[in-house]
Amino acid sequence: MTQHMQTQMIAQDRIQTVLPLDEKLEPIFAEVVRRNAGETEFQQAVREVLESLGHVIAKHPDYADDALIERICEPERQIIFRVPWMDDSGAVQVNRGFRVQFNSALGPYKGGLRFHPSVNVGIIKFLGFEQIFKNALSGLPIGGGKGGADFDPKGKSEGEIMRFCQSFMTELHHHIGEHTDVPAGDIGVGGREIGYLFGQYKRLANRFEAGVLTGKGMTYGGSRVRTQATGYGTVYFVQRMLGTKHTDLEGKRVAVSGSGNVAIYAMEKAIALGATVVACSDSSGHVIDENGIDLDLVKEIKEVRRERISEYARLKGTGAHFLGSGSIWDVPCDVALPCATQNELSGREAATLIKNGVLAVAEGANMPCTREAVRAFQSAEILFAPGKAANAGGVATSALEMQQNASRDRWTFEQTNARLSEIIAGIHDRCRETAEEYGAPGNYILGANIAGFVRVAESMRAHGVV
Ligand code: GLU
Repeated sequence: MTQHMQTQMIAQDRIQTVLPLDEKLEPIFAEVVRRNAGETEFQQAVREVLESLGHVIAKHPDYADDALIERICEPERQIIFRVPWMDDSGAVQVNRGFRVQFNSALGPYKGGLRFHPSVNVGIIKFLGFEQIFKNALSGLPIGGGKGGADFDPKGKSEGEIMRFCQSFMTELHHHIGEHTDVPAGDIGVGGREIGYLFGQYKRLANRFEAGVLTGKGMTYGGSRVRTQATGYGTVYFVQRMLGTKHTDLEGKRVAVSGSGNVAIYAMEKAIALGATVVACSDSSGHVIDENGIDLDLVKEIKEVRRERISEYARLKGTGAHFLGSGSIWDVPCDVALPCATQNELSGREAATLIKNGVLAVAEGANMPCTREAVRAFQSAEILFAPGKAANAGGVATSALEMQQNASRDRWTFEQTNARLSEIIAGIHDRCRETAEEYGAPGNYILGANIAGFVRVAESMRAHGVV
């Protein structure tokens, strides 16, 4: 079975485990499915939000007026473009680039760029749609957008990465700006790529517009804590969620899927708060280290050597082992942090985690748990934090970077980290209070969707039909 077929099957499985929709929302969803045929991840992301909105429509029917929900489900603008570039052998390669400018009711479009072979318009739309609510929930003045390309950075040389980024920006620069649309990183786009993208933007625009991109290097307008922010934020969220059950991360066993930017800094903060991280992974398999993952070694392998995670077991020797098959979620843990990619944690894997006594699950990645998995966690009353709440620390710190750029200021690590932790606490509490207000205490999904929606909807109403 190809990876694409597998993704389709998982997405299909997600669509079948649905909750009923409010009768006003049913035709809206049917139209989303018709208009975005085959875009299963996007359809699913919309479905999940609409399932929560039934509660709002019941209380405030006017939110369904003026096709407000239909407008939220339709991107304001979608840009698809050719990205030609020359590889090291002199052959010309062609990729497809995307930027979906989904919603600007709260501020300039804001969201990352993903470079991965699985990228297509449906994936970018699902991510852009999630981003609207995530950004709204943060309480900061940022709209929702997302972009990327079906380019595979794996195995490419420095020169190839730079030429690709330059070609990508040659087209993208027409559509972005500090007050218009502010991209950042996501899977396959880190500090190195942001540097090349910024350099090309600066050259084409003939302007040092620091606030046009976030996730920049510290020497040219980046913010302290941005690198760590998504992972740290996820763990701050978990800590606060555990607090509602009068416990914390001290002495807990944690499993973290992935070993990219989000996973690495989630592990760092979990360890700092007294947890033992027992496993992490990449697309080739997972490593288990009962003594606790040696994070310096993971950083060396992933950030410096850019090698596979199997190297960890080889270099660490005793106590650590690598498994190229099976699932990281078979490893017993108290806290599970899926930080790799969408649909990576299935219903079967959720059942194993529950059987092994998991206390809390927080999505460091965007939509890593399938519908089945989410339902399983909810019916077992496991603390479950959806990505749009639990991984909002990254984009929130991007907004802090924009703030520093606009005021030509530079904050200390401590100041920035304190703001991040305060923002996450606010998101957590907003989710909980909203869930309670709508009669579903402890349901962070419902709380996140409704709190995010209300802020966007209020602004859209104020702006009239645009
Ligand atoms: N890609 C990240 C996300 O999914 C960060 C986006 C940003 O900083 O703009 O939220």
